[in-house]
Parts: sequence; structure tokens; C-alpha cells
Amino acid sequence: MPPEPQTTFTKNNPATGEPLGMYSIASSEQVNEAIEQAHKAQKIWKNVSLSTRKSFLQSTAKALMTEVDAWAQLISAETGKPLKDAIETDMTLAVSVLNYYSQIGPKLLKEKRYQLDQSFLLGLVHYERRVPKGVVAIISPWNFPLAIPMSGIAAALMSGNTVILKPSELTPGCGERIGELIRSVLKQFNLPENIFQVLTGEGSTGQNLIDGRINYCVFTGSAPTGRKIQTQLAQRGIESSLELGGSCPMIILESEPDLDAATSYAVWSRFVNTGQACAAVKRLYVPSSRYNIVVSLLREKINQLNQGLPDDPLTHLGPLINETQRDLIARQVVETLAKGAQAETGGSVPERPGWYYPPTLLSHVPLDSPVLTEETFGPVLPVVPYDTIEEVIEMANNTPYGLTGCVFGEEKEAEAIARKLDTGIIAINGVGMTNYGFASLPWGGRKDSGPGVSHSPQALLDTTNTQTLTKNLMYGFAPLKKPPWLFNHSGAPQDLAFSKAILRVFGGKGWLAKLDLAMLIGLIRNRSSKRL
Ligand code: NDP
Repeated sequence: MPPEPQTTFTKNNPATGEPLGMYSIASSEQVNEAIEQAHKAQKIWKNVSLSTRKSFLQSTAKALMTEVDAWAQLISAETGKPLKDAIETDMTLAVSVLNYYSQIGPKLLKEKRYQLDQSFLLGLVHYERRVPKGVVAIISPWNFPLAIPMSGIAAALMSGNTVILKPSELTPGCGERIGELIRSVLKQFNLPENIFQVLTGEGSTGQNLIDGRINYCVFTGSAPTGRKIQTQLAQRGIESSLELGGSCPMIILESEPDLDAATSYAVWSRFVNTGQACAAVKRLYVPSSRYNIVVSLLREKINQLNQGLPDDPLTHLGPLINETQRDLIARQVVETLAKGAQAETGGSVPERPGWYYPPTLLSHVPLDSPVLTEETFGPVLPVVPYDTIEEVIEMANNTPYGLTGCVFGEEKEAEAIARKLDTGIIAINGVGMTNYGFASLPWGGRKDSGPGVSHSPQALLDTTNTQTLTKNLMYGFAPLKKPPWLFNHSGAPQDLAFSKAILRVFGGKGWLAKLDLAMLIGLIRNRSSKRL
């Protein structure tokens, strides 16, 4: 007999290894039932007015703000990040994305009349409608377990979709809590609770969701899983938005006057969230002439970082999320050291409970090392020297990823170089990572980092289909009820003159001025000639 499928799983605290809770694995029947319920609820939600949806998002943001400490503790316990980070990164973005879409949603989604164009001559006017796609699956990772899913949720709900969230199996408690939060607000508004559902489980649960009758998917996670999902959905004609990994290069130029400040940015961007961020600086390029001083400044700063328990207010970085991620980072470092790199700090797994890996600075890193060729999702910073600008641009772009990139130096020069980076986000004297905190900015990458855009008007519009509504104003006007372009072949030379007049009107700007005698004759003949 085959073994019974597992129906629950345990989530452990990454800082202590202690169990935090037991969660259910949604079966394929439960996934399909959730999708059917979501379709039913969507029939109601799509007809709820934009102003009510706006208030709904605002009330969700308010409800979130009343539970800051409880949320921070939950995020911190599940991920191992310090409480301060849970508030500054996860909570701040979640609240601002809800407020942002509540503000821009009604205006962007309102029915709009297209600008008058040539078709007006035929009595036609057109309107743009933004229609929700239907049931949106949101599949999210564990590194920002509130901010990332909420970005997709806020956009999809604002535009009238119903949503099913599949949180990572490593942060199921945050997923369930998002469900409780949104359901409590739906209740206040007297709306069906199935407008938003959460399905906990494993990768297979996400797979079942993808295989079900969904209409759109917002996926954030690793490049291999993202590509697989994209291919499967595309075969069924279903669109998806993918936010995948990254390997942000940071270039310090010879012209950089303040190496102390530039290295502080590198240290923050690389080690915040224990290096588990798609947009973190993952490779640092430094002019050969300044290599030693930069390495020594970095070493000094990294040695001052406190790695500890997430609820200790002095902790800068906690553990990694689990053993698998720690082993992955340890393997990448071991292989890099074997190639001849030098560990300036860290570089080995410490003896302590929990999934800790120390902040690690690597110098003299060969270019074919895993820490440069693969995404490093942990606290490891490789520093690479360069001699010419052409060389450093080539090295920075030599990666399958293209999410963020940044250049530090004299502003004009830094900007000119940043514009040559093949990434969706470029920063000059700053790090692109901070852009994720602003709901109004499009967030997306190139190559294996995308395609997909989070935040900004685009992510909202991506959860809708465009419907063009055309009204024929002439239909109620008897003389022009049958317009001249319906079959109207008299055989007279005026037929072609009229066709050419139409061509002139369509053929360029200032069409009103191109209305001419042939057009008028055509219109008048329209009244008298016989038509089918
Ligand atoms: P994964 O790709 O492993 O998982 C992401 C989500 O997909 C999880 O919920 C996972 O479930 C689910 N999943 C796994 N397999 C399948 C499947 N076959 N079908 C459907 N869903 C599936 O990524 P991680 O969670 O490890 O996240 C880390 C990655 O995310 C990094 O590469 C990082 O760079 C990237 N990321 C990108 C961001 C961006 O904005 N570009 C932002 C944040 C992270 P389960 O966890 O239960 O297995």
C-alpha cells in the first residue's frame, strides 16, 4: 500500500530550532474547492463599487496598524529577523501598499472615454473598461512574509479579483494571519469571506493551485520554480507575473570621495535580513588601487555586526531561515574558498543552536566562484578588484540575473555607468533595494529576475483585462443609421473618391482638417444611394 499522504507539517523557529506550530497541507480537493468558492465570491466582489473597495483596503491597513507588536513578533519568530526589521520592512510596505492602491485604484480603474479620433466621423465613441481577471493565485516566499504577499493582494483585490494566497511553508503562520486579518475586515463590510482565502501547505499545494481554474498568478520566489510555473500557465493561456532572484552588483568608482559611506551602504544592503533579499548587494566591485582600503573598512564594519536572537534589540542579523538555506550558503562559501578566495570574516558554520551563518567577507574571489555565478541568499559579500570601467561593466552584467544594480562615485560619472547596467532598477550613490519600500515605483527585473512588475499603477492594471466598449451614436439617427461603409457599391466614380477621402482622413494628424468635398459628397450620397 502506498503511504498515506501527509496532511500536516511543523514549522520550527529558525533561531532556536523549537517547533512553533503545526499547519495543514491543503489537499488537491481542498485547493479545487477553494478555487470554486473564489469564482462564486468574485461574482459579488467585482460588482462592489470602487469606493467600497477603496475603504476596504484602507480599513485593512488600519487593522494592521492596530496589531504592530503581534505582527512583528510573529514575523520575527517565523523568519528569525529582528523585530525592528519586521516593522521597518514588512509592516511598513504592507501598510503603504494597501493605502497606495486604495488611493490610485478608483481613478485608474474608472471607465474612461478614449480621446476622440477618426472613428467619431462614423459616429462611434469608445470607452476603456478595466475588468478584473477573476481568481488570482498569489504564491509567495518566506523572506518578507507580509510585505511581498500584501503587494499582490492589495492590487488584485482593488481591481475586483478574488485571491487565493499560498504562503511559503516556512512562514505559514504569517499566511494564516493575513487570512484572519482580511476576513475580519470582510466581515465588517458584510462581504463573503471567500473573497480572500489562504491555503497552507508545501510546493505541491502551490502546484495544485497552478493546475486549477485560476485566471492569473502573481509569483515571487526562485527562478527555477518561477520559470516552471510560467511555462505551465502559458500553455493554458494564463498570464503570470514573476518576481524572481537577483544578484545585485555594486560598483565603487575611483571618483568616490567617501569610502566610509559607500561601504556602509554595502554592509547594510548585503547583511540586512541576514542577506536573504532578492535585491541585496551580492557582488562588490572596487578599483584595484582602493581594494585593500575598502576590504579593511568592510572588515571593520562587519566585525561590529551583532548576530543573535531576533528579539534582542542589539541584534543586526538573525539566523537563516532553515538548514537547507544554511547548507546552501555554506556550500557556496566552501567551494569559493577552495578556488583560492580568502575569508576576511566568517566563512564557517558556528557551533550554536539555530540556523546561523556568520556575516562573511570574501576577498580575492576568482570570477568563476559560486558566490559570483550563483545567487547567494545569505550573509556573504565577495569583493572583486577591477582596472577599467569597461571591465567592471562587463563583470557586473555577466550574470543570469537583472534585478538591481548600483554605482557609487562622482554623480555624473556614476550615472553614465549605471545606465549601462542590464537591470530593472539602477541606483546612483544609493542601493536599488530601498525602491521596494515605495509602493508607487515599478519593481521588476530582466533576464532570470523577471518578467513581472510589482507595485506602481502597472501591477494594478496587470490584474485586469482591458475591455473596449464602443457606442454607435449614429444608430439612433435615421439618415445615418446605415453608414456609407456598409456595402454601398453604386459603380459611380464617387465611390472611389469617397474611399480615398477616408484614406486621407485616417492617414495622419489633423484629421478634422482633412474633411473635404469628396467626403461630404460621400456622406450626402449615403442618404440617397441604395445599400444592402
Ligand atoms: P521558492 O521558489 O522555493 O518558493 C516560492 C513559493 O513557491 C513558495 O510559496 C513555495 O512553496 C512555492 N512553490 C514551490 N514549488 C512550487 C510549484 N511547483 N508550484 C507552485 N508553487 C511552488 O522560493 P523561496 O521561497 O526559496 O524564495 C527565495 C527566492 O525568492 C530567492 O531566489 C529570491 O531571490 C526570490 N525573491 C524574489 C523577489 C523579487 O522581488 N524579485 C523578492 C523576494 C524573493 P513552499 O515554500 O511551500 O515550498
